[in-house]
Amino acid sequence: MWSSAVLSLRLRASCYQGNRRSLATVISGNKTSRLVRERLQQEVEKMRTLFSGFRPGLVVLQVGDRDDSNLYISTKLKAAAEIGIDAKHVRLPKTATQAEVLQSVLSVNANPSVHGLIVQLPLDSVNAMDTELITNAVSPEKDVDGLSCVNAGRLSRGELGGCFLPCTPSGCMELIRQTGVSVAGKHAVVIGRSKIVGAPMHDLLLWNHATVTTCHSKTPDLPAQVGRADVLVVGAGRAEMVRGEWVKEGAVVIDCGINHVPDETKASGKRVVGDVHYASANQRAGFITPVPGGVGPMTVAMLMENTVQSAQRFLLKNRS
Ligand code: NDP
Repeated sequence: MWSSAVLSLRLRASCYQGNRRSLATVISGNKTSRLVRERLQQEVEKMRTLFSGFRPGLVVLQVGDRDDSNLYISTKLKAAAEIGIDAKHVRLPKTATQAEVLQSVLSVNANPSVHGLIVQLPLDSVNAMDTELITNAVSPEKDVDGLSCVNAGRLSRGELGGCFLPCTPSGCMELIRQTGVSVAGKHAVVIGRSKIVGAPMHDLLLWNHATVTTCHSKTPDLPAQVGRADVLVVGAGRAEMVRGEWVKEGAVVIDCGINHVPDETKASGKRVVGDVHYASANQRAGFITPVPGGVGPMTVAMLMENTVQSAQRFLLKNRS
């Protein structure tokens, strides 16, 4: 005969199995970015009709010939063409001097048919380049990457409507919105403090009224910080660093990481993983982005969004 204590344990175990936590809801960047691009296509079409053939103009300035940059640029040009943005690729040789790169930036700044200019980073040059100087030379009105000091400063002060939001964090916010979870009043944790991902992500969450903790390589006890996050955004560049056990039950998990790890089962011998260990985090999170197909496609979509927005501001100023 089983004792009542054993019976109670058996009952609890069977209840637990019956109620086993379901997996997180996957937030699809592929789907969300497609919706953004379709909306932008309609807005561009409207501009063309109302302003006799007007098209938003985008220039991607590249120095050198890095394979990864070539791939990113071709993705941006393809997305722009689909939307109806007039995108041009300006490529300077590896031997270009800093003065020549600055000259190119200034000449695009002065061209009224270009509404967005991005300098593809990293610069692939044989000469010394001050990347900060070059990104800051982009006119703030055309800085659709949102990387200049002017736009970053406006964002840090909460002037969200008066600046261009950096594309990756802006895409992350769009994905968070898709979950229906409001960040206001929540505890958000960002891992990473780079100018392109972590720092602007912190600002965006803060000015959308989350209480934000930003972690970096010197932060002690990362698992404890992660465990407090209702919303977790990771941009560390460390393959599968964040383990599922660290994640708060039900949290929104946004993974910006793009890391290549060896995988003998793939023809290429490698595969792409994020900064979050997806299989284990999926067991605890409420919502999670996949890698690939999560933040990546949103980055390109938000670049297009910024370019269309810049063209709309240009029209308001010059053609109304
Ligand atoms: P950076 O290398 O510029 O920054 C990484 C940040 O992570 C730094 O702030 C660093 O801290 C922090 N960090 C590194 N290791 C740890 C650790 N062990 N614990 C806590 N913090 C850590 O990278 P990016 O911000 O440019 O990119 C981050 C990731 O996002 C990369 O995987 C990149 O490929 C990806 N990415 C994806 C994009 C997309 O479109 N999906 C776009 C841009 C980036 P510290 O400051 O102390 O060094």
